[in-house]
Amino acid sequence: MDVSIVIPVYNEGATVAPLCARLHPVLAGLPYTSEVLFVNDGSTDDTLDRLRALAAEWPAIRVIDLSRNFGKEAALTCGLAEAGGSAVITMDGDLQHPPETIPHLIDRWQAGYEMVFAQRLSRSDQDALSRLYVRAFYWLFDRLSAVRLPRDAGDFRLFDRKVVDALNRLPERNRFMKGLYAWLGFRTAAVGYDCAERAGGKSKWNRLGQLRFAFDALTAFSNLPLRVFGVAGLIVSVLAFFYIVIRLIRVTVYGIDVPGYESLLAAVLFMGGVQLVCLGIIGDYLGRVFEETKRRPLYVVRERFGYSTAPEVTRRVE
Ligand code: UDP
Ligand code: MG
Repeated sequence: MDVSIVIPVYNEGATVAPLCARLHPVLAGLPYTSEVLFVNDGSTDDTLDRLRALAAEWPAIRVIDLSRNFGKEAALTCGLAEAGGSAVITMDGDLQHPPETIPHLIDRWQAGYEMVFAQRLSRSDQDALSRLYVRAFYWLFDRLSAVRLPRDAGDFRLFDRKVVDALNRLPERNRFMKGLYAWLGFRTAAVGYDCAERAGGKSKWNRLGQLRFAFDALTAFSNLPLRVFGVAGLIVSVLAFFYIVIRLIRVTVYGIDVPGYESLLAAVLFMGGVQLVCLGIIGDYLGRVFEETKRRPLYVVRERFGYSTAPEVTRRVE
């Protein structure tokens, strides 16, 4: 097997057939053997039935059906673990990633690059607020983490077998894939593409989900938030120490003046707030440690079908 295409799908019933229709000629035009590996991430629509029909028509298709929705990062992890190709390409199932870019990715791979990411030249599906949000995330990530994320690069990528094996060996449960790709290193190249509109269905993101994702990504790749509060605590303690000394001198020289209720309350409330934020951040990291120590699998497979299981089926028929 030369090339595996890994596609996580969650409620993409409207787009899987058009996607295959465009993927087929592209793969047929390549001088390589290939497989198309769909990971059905607990779709509740007709995605699975459509995949079954497509797999019956096109023998290159393989489907892994997960037992429920585990999220895109888990579905990708599953696809990468099961893909057999010397090169593995991940892409979205909504046709935002044009299959026609695949030969360009493969060109770069042939030129010796071990990871090739497709870089959006244009993006039509984002409003101004989302753009601002994304900019803020990258700005913060650059400052907090030692890992550099390339801009405008999503999950449309090619990985050499070496990279896939390394990815599969990464043990963490919390998988911010873009960060892990960057962390791995390897010889990396970029190829431009025009990001299309969704061919159908709708995006799986909402603002709250994005915020959660961004926070997980930041805390997975940096422990600066933990250290910042240590430094802040130190600064406040030093200032408080000098303040106490000044007050003591004032009290011994001028006697006690009672007023100061507001400043007292302000200081207590402010410090209480800072402490709670600090506890919240520690709690988040602790929760992460808890998740990791449970060592649950990242996903559960209900069923596999497609060409790899076909021999088994025929055996059963005999
Ligand atoms: N996806 C998935 N599991 C999820 C959410 C999304 O497998 O829980 C898949 C989805 O079917 C699509 C890809 O991830 O193939 C990208 O999702 P989407 O188009 O919603 O993200 P966007 O392009 O808006 O970033
Ligand atoms: Mg999309």
